[in-house]
Amino acid sequence: DPALQEEMLKFQDTFGAGITERFRLIGRIGEGTFSTVYKAEDLLYDHYDNDWDLEEKENPKWASPPMKKRRTGLQRTISDVSQYSQQRRKPRYVAIKKIYVTSSPLRILNEIELLSKLQGCDSVCPLITAFRHTDQVVAVLPYFKHTDFREYFRKMTVKDMQIYFRSLFTALKATHEQGILHRDIKPTNFLYDPAKKRGVLVDFGLAEKEGTDYKPCLCQGGSQRDPERRRRLQNSVAVAMGPSSGYPKNDSRPSRRANRAGTRGFRAPEVLFKCTAQSTKIDIWSAGVMLLTILSKRFPFFNSADDVEAMIEIATIFGVKKMKQCAYLHGAMFETTIPTIGDKGFNLEKIILWSTCRNDGGKGGSEIPLTDEEKMAVRFLERCFELDPNKRISAAEALEHDFLREDLY
Ligand code: ADP
Ligand code: MG
Repeated sequence: DPALQEEMLKFQDTFGAGITERFRLIGRIGEGTFSTVYKAEDLLYDHYDNDWDLEEKENPKWASPPMKKRRTGLQRTISDVSQYSQQRRKPRYVAIKKIYVTSSPLRILNEIELLSKLQGCDSVCPLITAFRHTDQVVAVLPYFKHTDFREYFRKMTVKDMQIYFRSLFTALKATHEQGILHRDIKPTNFLYDPAKKRGVLVDFGLAEKEGTDYKPCLCQGGSQRDPERRRRLQNSVAVAMGPSSGYPKNDSRPSRRANRAGTRGFRAPEVLFKCTAQSTKIDIWSAGVMLLTILSKRFPFFNSADDVEAMIEIATIFGVKKMKQCAYLHGAMFETTIPTIGDKGFNLEKIILWSTCRNDGGKGGSEIPLTDEEKMAVRFLERCFELDPNKRISAAEALEHDFLREDLY
């Protein structure tokens, strides 16, 4: 691809010798909203201890790669040549993440800082190093071979799911123990190799330290007599005009601001309700959406265009009653006149049967019921989908749940 070649040359040019001496760019592996990721060969891999390479290691835990003392060019060359003559070693691959210059310097700093804080955590992709050239920043990570989620998720057995989610929740536990919210848990940010049954969490571009978001929310134990909540509820258009008035057109209530970063379809209800004190539990919800996707064999499972549609999707499953309780918890209200949203919602087992066509829509025909293993997965899913973040399972608890406990498989 000549366009790609040109793009890579341009990238090498910007960084000059610093990058070309050490890395040989091979190709592009990812292109997102915030970055382009290239695969490259690290030509100077003796810069760090050899024990961080995943490929050969039994223990998947990555040791942090301590940099060796800088040596002169000549020393380095001599050492490289002598090492090459001793043995021809397997090339070492890295992923070079070029963060778009449109990202704010603070955002970039945040990502690099959080990644280095998570150094050495099981199932979290470590940072090897980072470079800056004027306004361009690149992060260098070990290359992790993985398969596109869409190629394997339909074929996964419950056992496969247990292994996959054990790995994901191990990464989440380590991340959450550091008080870090990932904020963008979804299949493309969890690189999984079905052959090796191993995964790593990447992309801390939206991650944040817990508690950096200002005002406490009621769901976090705020006062019941919170004046902000009373004011919001009293001003509510729905209260003033009765529940049948539909969607308010001239909404004069003060708008609320909260971090909504993340990906459509994976946002937890507290994010949609603009809770100002979001916790690590938002990642658990997103992991739940991943499990529902796999169990239902539908990707994307939720497919809303905006937050209001996303609430409608969630309300359809969980029912109006629970949705109202959830809204109230965050000092908001949920009203709807949409006839397809019932009071009680549906149980997740039914939803999975419908979406995998194992149930003819309740017409009395044959139904292939869920196996006991699948039912256990659904019990676990229900714990990830608690609408109240305080009741939702934590990553540490998840690893103790029957569905993920190691001794069961
Ligand atoms: P973005 O912020 O642009 O989403 P990511 O960090 O998620 O950036 O990387 C984008 C894509 O690049 C990933 O979905 C994955 O396909 C690929 N990628 C990122 N890091 C690695 C890695 N260490 N090894 C292999 N591929 C990677
Ligand atoms: Mg990403």
